[in-house]
Amino acid sequence: MSAQSVELCPLYISGKWQFPNDKQTSAVYNPSRGEMIASVPLCGPAEVELAVASAAAAFPAWRDTPPNDRAQVMFRAKMMLEDQFDELCLGISTEHGKTLSEARGDLRRGIEVVEYACGVPTLLMGESLENIARGIDCHTDRHPLGVVVGICPFNFPALVPMWMWPLAIACGNTFVLKPSERVPLTMQRIVAILEKAGLPAGVMNIVHGGREVVDALLEHPQVRAVSFVGSTPVAREIHRKATANGKRVQAAGGAKNFIILMPDADVERTVSAVKDAAFGCAGERCMAGSTAVAVGDAGANLLPALAEQVAAMKVGPTDIASVQPDMGAVISAEHKKRVQGLIDQGEHAGARLLTDGRKTHVSDAPNGFFLGPTVIDHVECDNPLMEQEVFGPVLAVMRASTLEQAIALANRQAFGNGAAIFTNSGKAAREFRREVSAGMVGINVGVPAPLAYFPFSGWNDSFFGDLHIQGREGVEFYTQRKTTTTRWFSFGDGEIWAK
Ligand code: NAD
Repeated sequence: MSAQSVELCPLYISGKWQFPNDKQTSAVYNPSRGEMIASVPLCGPAEVELAVASAAAAFPAWRDTPPNDRAQVMFRAKMMLEDQFDELCLGISTEHGKTLSEARGDLRRGIEVVEYACGVPTLLMGESLENIARGIDCHTDRHPLGVVVGICPFNFPALVPMWMWPLAIACGNTFVLKPSERVPLTMQRIVAILEKAGLPAGVMNIVHGGREVVDALLEHPQVRAVSFVGSTPVAREIHRKATANGKRVQAAGGAKNFIILMPDADVERTVSAVKDAAFGCAGERCMAGSTAVAVGDAGANLLPALAEQVAAMKVGPTDIASVQPDMGAVISAEHKKRVQGLIDQGEHAGARLLTDGRKTHVSDAPNGFFLGPTVIDHVECDNPLMEQEVFGPVLAVMRASTLEQAIALANRQAFGNGAAIFTNSGKAAREFRREVSAGMVGINVGVPAPLAYFPFSGWNDSFFGDLHIQGREGVEFYTQRKTTTTRWFSFGDGEIWAK
C-alpha cells in the first residue's frame, strides 16, 4: 500500500483532531502482514508549542474541577473502554502483532490503572496534625503540577500510555502524549473515548513523531514533568535532558530478566511459566524472561520438556479474531533481522540451539515479520546475546552449579527490571529475593509485573528517576505537596460576633 492511500494519524490539540502542514511521515505497519496500514506525521517544535499551549490553557479549570468530578470522567471512560474492549484489542493485535489474548492483557492491565485513578479523591487526601504548638495546626495536601508529558514505546500500545495519563489527569494535571510512532492507532481510539466520556478540551493532547518532537517537549518551559518508557539509551538521555531543564522525570528503560531454575522446581508448572515468560508477546516485553539459569540438575530435569513444548508453538497472524496462534510477529522487518543476527552471533560464540526460529515461514502470511521461538543453551557471559537486550522470541540458557553462582550471573548485567526463581525451597527463594539486584521479583512467577496499585519498580539501568510509575508513587510523581501551618488569633469572648 502506498503512503498516499493509508490513514494519516491526526494530532489531538485543544479537543480537535488536526493535521499539521507539510510534515514528513513515518509508516505504521500491520506486522502480521508486513503491510503499511497508516502513517504518522513527524512533528517538531511548532506542533509542541500548540499542544503545550492547549494543555496549559486547560490546566486552571481542570485543576479546580473537584477530584470527585474528575473521577467521574474516569468512571465513564472505564465503562466505555469495556464496551469497546474487543474492538480495541483487535486493533492492538493489528498494529502490534501480538496475539489477541496478549492484547487483552495489554488493555486489561491499562483499564486497571483507570480503575485505580477512579479512587483519586482518596488518593489525594493529605495529612494533618492539630496543635503542633499551642493554637497552631498543620496540614499537607497534594496539588497537580501543571502540564505533564508521556513518551511511550511500541510494545504495549494501550498499557504503557495508560500507566501515565489516567493518574496524571485524575490528579488534576493536563497531558501531552507522544505515542510510539510505530503503534499510534490504539491511543487515537482511546482518546476518542475520553472525549466522549466528557474530558474537557485541552486536558489530553496528542503529538506524533520521533526525536525532534521529544526534544521540543523536553525543552518546553511550561512542561513540568516527563514520564518516559522505552529503551535504556533513550531513557538515560531523556532523564539527563529533562532534569537539566528542571523537569521532574521518571524514565523506565530496557531489561534483561533472569529466571533461575532450581533442581527441585515443579517440572510441568515451571516449563509452562518459562515458556510464557520468554515467548509471550514474542519476547517484546520489558518483563520478558529472556535468560534462564539452570542450576545443577535443573537443566536435565526441565530443558527437554521446555524444548519440546516450544518447538510445538504455532506462529502466525493475529489480526483475524477467529484464528489465533500461540505467538505473533515482531514489530518490524528490521527488528526481525536484528534478532536473527543476534542468534547467528550467539551460535557462532559456541552456544547450542535447542530450537531455532530464524527460518520460520508462515504460509498464510508470507510477508509478516515472523520469527519462531528460539531456545539457545550453554550461553556464556561473553556471548553477544548477553551484551544487550534482545527483545525478541529468544531464550538464552546459562548453566550454574549453585544458587550463589546463578544470582551472581543475574547481578553482573546492568539492568534490574525483573528476576524470577522457580523452586520448592523457601530458603532458596528467600536468599534469591534478598540478593538479586532487580526491582520486581517473582517466586514461581515468571512475569512478576505488578498491578496498578503497586509501583512498577525497576532498578539499575532499567530506571532513571526517583518515583516509579503506577500506585502511590505514581500519585506522588504527578503531584506536589503543600504544607499549611495555621493559627487563629483570639479576639476575646464574643468579639467577632459582636461586630
Ligand atoms: P525506544 O527507546 O526506541 O522508543 C521509545 C520512545 O522514545 C518512542 O516514543 C520513540 O519515538 C522515542 N525515541 C526514540 N529514540 C529517541 C531519541 N533518540 N530521542 C528522543 N526520543 C526517542 O523504545 P521502543 O523500541 O519503542 O520500545 C522498546 C523498549 O522499551 C525496550 O527496550 C523495552 O525494554 C522498553 N520498555 C521498558 C519498560 C519498562 O517498564 N522498563 C516497559 C515497556 C518497554
